[in-house]
Amino acid sequence: MPVTKLQVVPLGGLGEFGMNCMAIRWGDDIIVIDAGLMFPEAELLGVDIVVPDITYLLENRQQVRAIVLTHGHEDHIGALPWILSELNVPVYGTEFTLAYVEGKLEEHALLDDAELNEIKAGERFRIGPFTINPIQVTHSLVDCVALAIHTPLGIIIHTGDFKVDPTPTDTRLFDLHSFAEYGKEGVLALFQDSTNVERRGYTPSERAVRARFQEILARAERRVFISCFSSSVHRIKLAIDEAMESGRKVSVVGRSMLESTEIAQDFGYIEVPEGVLIHPAQMRELPRDKVCVLISGTQGEPMSALSRAAVDNHKHARIEPGDTVVLSSRIIPGNEKAIYRVIDHLFRRNAHVIYDDGSSPPVHVSGHASQEELKLIINLVKPRYFIPIHGEYRQLKLHAELAAAMRGSVGQVMMVESGDILEFDELGARKAGRIAVGRVCIDSNSMGDVVEDLVIRDRRHLSEDGIVLPIIAINKLTGRVESAPEIVMRGFAAGEDGFLDGARQTVMTTLEASSDEEKGDYGMIKEKIRQDLKRFIVKNTSRRPLIMPVILEV
Ligand SMILES: [Zn+2]
Ligand SMILES: [Zn+2]
Repeated sequence: MPVTKLQVVPLGGLGEFGMNCMAIRWGDDIIVIDAGLMFPEAELLGVDIVVPDITYLLENRQQVRAIVLTHGHEDHIGALPWILSELNVPVYGTEFTLAYVEGKLEEHALLDDAELNEIKAGERFRIGPFTINPIQVTHSLVDCVALAIHTPLGIIIHTGDFKVDPTPTDTRLFDLHSFAEYGKEGVLALFQDSTNVERRGYTPSERAVRARFQEILARAERRVFISCFSSSVHRIKLAIDEAMESGRKVSVVGRSMLESTEIAQDFGYIEVPEGVLIHPAQMRELPRDKVCVLISGTQGEPMSALSRAAVDNHKHARIEPGDTVVLSSRIIPGNEKAIYRVIDHLFRRNAHVIYDDGSSPPVHVSGHASQEELKLIINLVKPRYFIPIHGEYRQLKLHAELAAAMRGSVGQVMMVESGDILEFDELGARKAGRIAVGRVCIDSNSMGDVVEDLVIRDRRHLSEDGIVLPIIAINKLTGRVESAPEIVMRGFAAGEDGFLDGARQTVMTTLEASSDEEKGDYGMIKEKIRQDLKRFIVKNTSRRPLIMPVILEV
């Protein structure tokens, strides 16, 4: 390839939700922006996470210099353990982003071999032919940056995820000045977040939920449970501040929520006076109206703290009649069923449930820019080429149309999807072919363990380790298990005698240990069975078949 061409190759995130990852190449040097995952859809039972196919990077492994991260959300860093285990290159990210990354790599025993480099907004750094300037932006998470990448052919700007929040809770302001200065200097291409292109106007500031939290906490006569994404640091801060203000102690429940709160405290984003945070076990000693619980699990994840509390199966977080439960998050498309199931359980416990129903003041605000903010950035940057990123196809398309209507601010709009090679040179920009991309489904307990790749790649794993289907007959009316579970296996050799009995017994034990309410919640009971059976099979056979529980209603 002649050295005078700049290539931008999205490996994921364009035309799909999640899995953001983009390669930028100049000659023999490639840098990768973000390494995100996608959460599997419900029909991918047996799969923990989905990551981008990185065949392109592996085929060019000698050229890949680094991975640069815009912020710490899972759809931007979640695939790092998987990618680093295949391709160990230096990682660049802000302090807060790297704190999340460290936890993740530690979990997979990859931290010792990883080279992590901290970057700061406004401090340029160099990787090969690229000089990169991280620009402070605002989002639902803290310490997020856009990246201005100086290439031999000109400057390209990748916005990362953002909204223009004029009053972030950490008062680290969106650096509009830098965007404007680059606009004056001249920008070759702007790659901009498309998530909220369908929304008119401006996205409200994170502070907008404060009024609602105040109202809820003041009115509640019993415990208040607040659930939000564990990474929503602004939200956690507001919840803790307002809970304190209302005279309540705060208990943090759920691993991810706990981790996130600790990291945010370590870096000074959240300051909590001594004595405010209490251990979940201390809750019961306090008057009901003196407790606020931050709890993880806004998306109805079957094993999350909130889901378990909703079916009265959490050791400490017990939801009693008259308690208030706030879901301070949006319903991610695809999760509706699971979330409403949890909400139903909460109603059954006679809790007041408050979720994002469009009322004002809001109980949740988005972290992504609406139309007017998107236009504002385009106006400031005035790129020669505009490329929508981070969105499903319709969002990319609508964003392209929005930009194309801004004559005078945008030279030319280019639509690309994951796998397209976008090429720039002195003559202009064009699509120059495609590379293989796709989704790789992973069993997150072991990074080397590709369960199944839905789109292309091999099915080796399936044929080696096979499938196990535990079949359980449950009486819809009584919630009773009607007969002993059947275990059907394909391509999986059971090995020792007694394995089948053991597997059946494992499923029985799980069922016996579950309440009728849990058994009536098929999503949850399937996940419990899957996890317990997986543990049993790994322990007894060291194999990792795909486990797909089937519930028969009788
Ligand atoms: Zn994102
Ligand atoms: Zn994000």
